[in-house]
Amino acid sequence: MDNLSLVRKAAAENKLAHFLLFHGSGTEERHKAALDLACLLNCEEVNSPCRECSSCKKISSGNHPDVHILKPLKTSVGIEQVMQMQEKIYRKHFEGKFRICLIEEADKLTLPAANALLKISEDPPDNTLIILSTSNGEGIISTLQSRAQSVYFSFPTRQEWKYGSESYDLSGGDPDLACKINDLGIEKVKQSLSSYLEAVNAADFLKVYSLFPLEKDETLILIQALAVNIREQVIRKEVSPQLLQEIGRTAEALRKQANPRLVLEVLALKHIEMGGSKIG
Ligand SMILES: [Zn+2]
Repeated sequence: MDNLSLVRKAAAENKLAHFLLFHGSGTEERHKAALDLACLLNCEEVNSPCRECSSCKKISSGNHPDVHILKPLKTSVGIEQVMQMQEKIYRKHFEGKFRICLIEEADKLTLPAANALLKISEDPPDNTLIILSTSNGEGIISTLQSRAQSVYFSFPTRQEWKYGSESYDLSGGDPDLACKINDLGIEKVKQSLSSYLEAVNAADFLKVYSLFPLEKDETLILIQALAVNIREQVIRKEVSPQLLQEIGRTAEALRKQANPRLVLEVLALKHIEMGGSKIG
């Protein structure tokens, strides 16, 4: 029985936790599972979810008054968003059988927002389910983590993959990265990746210059794709695992502030020092 089946079983037995932590796989996969669960809990038919009743239809189309979805505004999920949600879930009357609050990218909750949720978890309203969904469970404060029942989603296999086979290889089977790669353009990512590796193999970090202009977001996608590529080389024992740590540090520096070209050149320089890399 997979994790979600366990949740369904708990729901059927009326033993559902108030807080669930959805992690693993991709944002879209977890989002879909959360809506499925909302349908299951609110469906008007015996064989739920029927996907035909007005409740199921409202949920699938994003119009159910008892299903609330919070997403980061710009870079974080803030206290105002949680307060608005809180105001709704402590109301007596509601339309369906169950209120569902889905918090997407829950690792981006601000500390005050996470603390407000912690307060809710101390006195949770009846028939209300709060789902924290994230690719990075460790990014949620531990007190809140410990209040939530963990539901892990395994990553799609190549057979289950629906984002194109090239993006499977480039993303290493990570649906979120694959979506970003597809948005940016597979050809562009492949081209940038091979230009970068060529520069490193020619031991000429200045050639990294030819990859630009690239926006910060685009550089971050390239670095993530590079990490996938290097991870495979590490497995084949062609490069040192230390290089992956360097790539991690580069991504971190880029997220914080640094200039995309500068961080990539610094990475290339270290990469060259570590003995370069095979093209592939
Ligand atoms: Zn239904």
